[in-house]
Amino acid sequence: MATALKYPHMKTITSSGSYVGRFAPSPSGHLHFGSLVTALGSFLQAKSQAGQWLLRIEDIDPPREVTGASDSIMRCLEAHHLFWDDEVVYQSNRYDLYNEKIQYLTEQGLTYHCRCTRAQLTSLKFGQSCACVNQNLSVENSAIRFRHHNIHQHFYDELLGQVDFPEHEIPTQFALKRKDTLFAYQLAVVVDDIQQGITEVARGADLLDATLFQLALYQAFNRPAPKFLHFPVVVTEPGKKLSKQNHACEVNTNDVCTNLINALGFLGLSLTKELKRESAQNILNWAICEWDLNKIPAKTECIDNRIGQADSI
Ligand SMILES: [Zn+2]
Repeated sequence: MATALKYPHMKTITSSGSYVGRFAPSPSGHLHFGSLVTALGSFLQAKSQAGQWLLRIEDIDPPREVTGASDSIMRCLEAHHLFWDDEVVYQSNRYDLYNEKIQYLTEQGLTYHCRCTRAQLTSLKFGQSCACVNQNLSVENSAIRFRHHNIHQHFYDELLGQVDFPEHEIPTQFALKRKDTLFAYQLAVVVDDIQQGITEVARGADLLDATLFQLALYQAFNRPAPKFLHFPVVVTEPGKKLSKQNHACEVNTNDVCTNLINALGFLGLSLTKELKRESAQNILNWAICEWDLNKIPAKTECIDNRIGQADSI
């Protein structure tokens, strides 16, 4: 039987509690161990600062959506006692807002229509724009792209410190709305993070380079950028991220304590034998008290042998 609760529900924080964080999964698959780590890390980062933790479903890409995945992700978070604050935001309900923001950027002279292929764009050198920039193309068969003036090459990460990108690794073009008329991730995420008052974006390190684009958009919208914090990515073997695309297994909710213990271990928190016998809620309460960014392995990739075995996740 689990021992009595040893930790208060919430760490006593003397700050204003103005932290607002979020978890923003896309429903292109069910929650796997890697996304559980990100959810848990962002939850602990918010709750250890007496902050809010919001949930946003990034469902702006219907062709990639898996039926039932949004509900399944939410049920999985609840099963792990990762309860979000406020109403869930669905990006699919916000197309008017995204169009309005593209209109604003267009009025600022910061957009252009582009018909280049991905190959054409990747062949561009740092700082070089494609020929479409000056052609005033019509909207048909065109993506709406952001017109860069000042490309960021580095930013400060709360976990990784200064992150610098060599010029050859920085794509100079990004879309706001794709040729297929779907809104681009970069636009939607920044518009929503601003609108939801997010003070820190805590997510997986696979999105490190997206930060450069997003900083450019904050500047274009004349809004202060939030802090950024990128957690190590769970990989199954060197260089291979555990993801929906490589068929990561859905998190099994029959043993949430083991999942939490494994995810906490990945984030640098080891539990004693006694703690491992506690309830999921008590384990989370302990983790909120113990949460410390300095304990997280400060690298973008971590290999966890347990994760390579499908049965364990
Ligand atoms: Zn072009």
